[in-house]
Amino acid sequence: MKQDNIINLVRKNIKSLKPYQSARRIGGKGDVFLNANESPVPVFFSIKNKKWNRYPEGQPKNLIAAYSAFVNIHSNNILVTRGADEGIELLIKAFCEPGKDIIICCPPTYDMYHITADIAGVEIKKIPTKKNTWQLDLLNIKLNLKQVKLIYICNPNNPTGTIISKKDIIDLLDITLGKSLIIVDEAYIEFSLENSMVNDLKNHKNLVILRTLSKAFSLAGIRCGFLLANKDVIDILHKVISPYPISIPVSDIAYQALQKKSLIAMNNRVLEINANRIWFSNQLKIFSCVEKIFDSSANYILVKFHMCEKLFTELWNSGIILRNQNQKIYLQNCIRISIGTRTECVRVISEIKKFCLQKNILV
Ligand SMILES: *Cc1c(COP(=O)(O)O)cnc(C)c1O
Repeated sequence: MKQDNIINLVRKNIKSLKPYQSARRIGGKGDVFLNANESPVPVFFSIKNKKWNRYPEGQPKNLIAAYSAFVNIHSNNILVTRGADEGIELLIKAFCEPGKDIIICCPPTYDMYHITADIAGVEIKKIPTKKNTWQLDLLNIKLNLKQVKLIYICNPNNPTGTIISKKDIIDLLDITLGKSLIIVDEAYIEFSLENSMVNDLKNHKNLVILRTLSKAFSLAGIRCGFLLANKDVIDILHKVISPYPISIPVSDIAYQALQKKSLIAMNNRVLEINANRIWFSNQLKIFSCVEKIFDSSANYILVKFHMCEKLFTELWNSGIILRNQNQKIYLQNCIRISIGTRTECVRVISEIKKFCLQKNILV
């Protein structure tokens, strides 16, 4: 064994860890990036506060007040985080004893639940959704609740776009009260706000909701999210969050994004993306290489293709970067496509059309 071998110092679970395949890590030399469900159009803010010699407030009061007004939830029930991803991590830090407690997630879903648990050395049980409907397999979840502290549910689910049955979530909240927290990740909820569970917070002490400014708010670059929960949960999380997670420029921009004019603009972007999604999926329907288009309530759609890998690579080479979901449970031959501007949608459609025509001629 070499004496200077740093690798030997690494924790065992980190050595074997496969890190999250973030959009920036995957790369690609594209000009149409539809692989991270970002907003295709930037929003512009200038930073008002220009003095940065002092540490920021740990939990900026004016920002929390602004989000409180937006969701109509008391400030005591809100924690500002460095993106929703930090919320996922803080809950595990505060509630899960490594080697003892267990987390449940329901694939196909967002990868960061199991990756964050893996990093923390906390066991994660994957209880796949029901095939075809992608709804929770409640029966199976109920059989596996022993020692489970956290259950992560993504709604609308990434990457399927599915709305998870509210009745099922409420059922789960009821039977796990006092034993587990149910975390509903609402990263995309602005695209289908009527499905939010914000109004259920007051009746369910074990409900936690994750929100972000990264998607509908068009601010993935600033890293800002919110965790909504009953006050006991928030107070516990105050103990484990880093002292200054939100920098002054971030809270400055986030605050402006939550003012009336910005909220109206956000709503208009949501309407436009939702209209684009419908247009896009109608266009896709006619192609021979499209096997199935799944209903989505978010700013992306999941599509099953014939010759999925070939199509993915061909589009990649033409500068259109999508997200291949082929490796995930139930998602063989599926690609997730973020909804871009109409121009971007048109471009994707024309490349897919080109591909289908070529292949039909060749077959
Ligand atoms: C994008 C995404 C997040 C991450 O949000 P950030 O606020 O950017 O950390 C969380 N959950 C889901 C389901 C997402 O798709």
